Amino acid sequence: MEPCPYLNARRDPCPTREPGDLFCSKCGKEYDSAQDDAGSIEKATTTPAAATIVEVEPPKTEQAAAVAIQVPEEADNIRHYIAPKCVGCNADSSNFDEDGFCTKCWVQAVLPCRDDFFIEVTPNIVARSNLGNPTIGHSRNEDYAAMDSVVVDGKRISWFVVADGVSSSKAPQQASEEACRAASATLRIAALSRQKGSEGLVLAAINSAQSAVLKVPAELNADADFSAPACTIIVAFIDDGVASLGWCGDSRLYAIYRDSTASCGYSDKLLSRDHTLLNEMIDQTGVSAAEAYKKFTTKELHTMTQCLGEVPEGEIYAPSTSTVTIDSTLVSIFGCSDGAWNDVHDMDLPQSGEFAKIFASNPRSAMGFAEAVLKRASGADNNTIAVINF
Ligand SMILES: [Zn+2]
Ligand SMILES: [Zn+2]
Repeated sequence: MEPCPYLNARRDPCPTREPGDLFCSKCGKEYDSAQDDAGSIEKATTTPAAATIVEVEPPKTEQAAAVAIQVPEEADNIRHYIAPKCVGCNADSSNFDEDGFCTKCWVQAVLPCRDDFFIEVTPNIVARSNLGNPTIGHSRNEDYAAMDSVVVDGKRISWFVVADGVSSSKAPQQASEEACRAASATLRIAALSRQKGSEGLVLAAINSAQSAVLKVPAELNADADFSAPACTIIVAFIDDGVASLGWCGDSRLYAIYRDSTASCGYSDKLLSRDHTLLNEMIDQTGVSAAEAYKKFTTKELHTMTQCLGEVPEGEIYAPSTSTVTIDSTLVSIFGCSDGAWNDVHDMDLPQSGEFAKIFASNPRSAMGFAEAVLKRASGADNNTIAVINF
């Protein structure tokens, strides 16, 4: 077996390819489809109807399973968020003019879709992305999200991708968008072709996002000192009682557990580990986070050591992956950009339980939870959250 093109540090060999597999379950390497007798993927030429749930019937015979699967184009399920009330004066949306301004206080009550959007696959599978406060933060939303769900052989498979464009790169907005689309497309193909979730699969999705980001052109008016287009990424793929997770950069993945010992009835757990100078320092010198904060500024410590995009000379591209078993105490898995976690979670201290407290007030509503998290954010950064409730 060829060595993995991305993770040269890995010594142990990849497993033998199982019939029908499109990606190595360990390293995420895409198999050569020409050598695949077990099943080939054919892209449907027609765009499907607006519905985002695709149902694939169980194969009737072994042979039927090997027949080409129709993979629909990714459904565009991004929806424009229209606030029910004006942020300036609380007037209801009937007072908004066609340009999105409130006719009572002339605040821009409705933002362009790219700056303020949501995805609602089901009430339990939602994502929400918002510009934040442009007077203290960004003038545009450089985060992006992709999320979907399919039912294959009667089983639901769901996934989400969140990316946060690196503002000091030459095309943060397009980088995050292309990364999410590419990763989600890879996961969709895998889900519809019955490839099981694995760390290799999320790695394959991140690798396709990386290829897409490398193709993003610099914006015409980009600052000459900025880096090549870059963004973070987090990926969660949930099938068969397992969440396969992957990340690159400082966007995060969390779980909410039912917890009778916690005062609110829930506890939160960070599932990813930021690729930052702080964590690198902790790993390499054994210094504690508290000590590091005494010596360096938060800004210095939060400098990212990994992201998608051109890899600086002397550095390696090394996304991280893990898996989490979905047991009866797990009630939610969510992922978010730093704009959403920064103001909620005490980053480097023991679990603060703040996300659990927010969840406790909206336990049955993924959108309510996402909205409540966004409300807690200061708006100094774009904020995006994708939630899957079980
Ligand atoms: Zn108003
Ligand atoms: Zn951010």
